[in-house]
Amino acid sequence: MATDTDCIFCKIVAGEIPSTKVAEDDDTFVFMDVNPATRGHALVIPKRHTQDVTTIDPADLATVMVKAQEIAKRAEQALGADGVNLLNCCGSAAWQTVFHFHVHVIPRYAGDGLTEPWKPGQGGDAEVIAAAAEALRD
Ligand code: AMP
Ligand code: ZN
Repeated sequence: MATDTDCIFCKIVAGEIPSTKVAEDDDTFVFMDVNPATRGHALVIPKRHTQDVTTIDPADLATVMVKAQEIAKRAEQALGADGVNLLNCCGSAAWQTVFHFHVHVIPRYAGDGLTEPWKPGQGGDAEVIAAAAEALRD
């Protein structure tokens, strides 16, 4: 199992630092976020260390996302969540603070007070949108 000796999440998987575990299988580990955005905020991680969504093995990514789906369903069924946000941050500019890939499963409750990270405006500049699409196609 690939690990990073300096990685806090690898240490959680190894049991070297405590966590509130929710689930574990051969490939994934699920535990509660220590600074929850809402009640039941959990993190789903691959056991194999990898930095972010650009580096994770596609098979591990699929396995982690299926596990996140399971936890999202549990949040609705067992916690009475009205909805769920799945969030991944890739890179410091995108709010990543722990550089071991993880998916936040954030149960949402009507009136929980969380706000959207952006609000759709009046529509973007069509040329800029088209140019970005062209770059993405390349
Ligand atoms: P991100 O900003 O997307 O990299 O998210 C990292 C998350 O890890 C934050 O929500 C932290 O609250 C959480 N976190 C950091 N250290 C721990 C820890 N030891 N146990 C549980 N959650 C942690
Ligand atoms: Zn790690």
